[in-house]
Amino acid sequence: MLQIKNLTKFYGKRAVLQDLNLNIKQGEIYGLLGANGAGKTTTINIICGLLNYDDGQVNINGENLSARSKYLLGVAPQENLLYPSLSCAENLSFFGKIYGLKGTKLKSAINRCLQGVNLLDRKDNAVDTLSGGMQRRVNIAVALIHNPKLLILDEPTTGLDIEARYEIWQLITSLKEEGMTILLTTHLLDEAQKLCDRIGIIKNGEIIAEGTLEELRKKVPAQEIIIIKTDEEEKAILKAQEKGFQHRYYGGDLAFLLPETLPLEELIKYFDHINLTSITRQPVNLDHIYLEVTQNVE
Ligand code: ATP
Repeated sequence: MLQIKNLTKFYGKRAVLQDLNLNIKQGEIYGLLGANGAGKTTTINIICGLLNYDDGQVNINGENLSARSKYLLGVAPQENLLYPSLSCAENLSFFGKIYGLKGTKLKSAINRCLQGVNLLDRKDNAVDTLSGGMQRRVNIAVALIHNPKLLILDEPTTGLDIEARYEIWQLITSLKEEGMTILLTTHLLDEAQKLCDRIGIIKNGEIIAEGTLEELRKKVPAQEIIIIKTDEEEKAILKAQEKGFQHRYYGGDLAFLLPETLPLEELIKYFDHINLTSITRQPVNLDHIYLEVTQNVE
């Protein structure tokens, strides 16, 4: 559905995208994951034709990027693109007309999109009377008004409370079930883990790792991770080295990467004579993968 080959973008002399490659398949949710400044929004702006690029190729649904691409793409930007004093239906009508919709086609598209985001009953309410989560859903409805083939969601839940976030997650899942292809950017690892079929991790304008969660798990040389609290960290590290466990610090917590899952008694035995306050076991998750791949790449 979307193919990006060797995309390169400079701001002045600084390359903010470097030979970026992406391939998003029909019907999947692809998560572009990266820290602030990694290049996510730049990539999206190029796909949407809002920014020029210096080198590479962008192909949507088999066509090179052109003025026609906007009909294939629906974009819900990070900042809601809505007229706050207009009603939900008026907002959708405004954007629908930009895509050439009118009359009964426009009316039914407005109803379909508001139904899709579960806001049909708020159709005539001004956007600024809705909660933050509802406004974000209207923002997504606007992106869907012309029935695009690829939906781009730029940090769809940033700034929302947990309940509103879950509603957006549910909405994204139902859009996928209806067959929509979705490119989602986020820096929320739980969001990517929960929603995405495949994930690309972007750092300094480059995809440094990509795959399903299962494929990405292989980037961490561990079956299981244990977090240890002790006032004898150095001793614990030396002891773990004898057993071949690599160590990491996750947010200041000492962690060991276990090549295989071990019974708790055995683990405790390994750290015999070390003053342990606690041992916590964790399966390898996207947080560990993200740190592993981003910290190993300058
Ligand atoms: P965020 O999560 O904060 O939105 P991002 O991954 O979307 O970050 P981009 O906004 O794409 O990152 O920015 C990528 C890099 O390009 C950053 O270093 C940013 O400072 C730089 N940049 C973005 N826009 C411009 C601009 N107009 N002029 C110069 N540099 C820019």
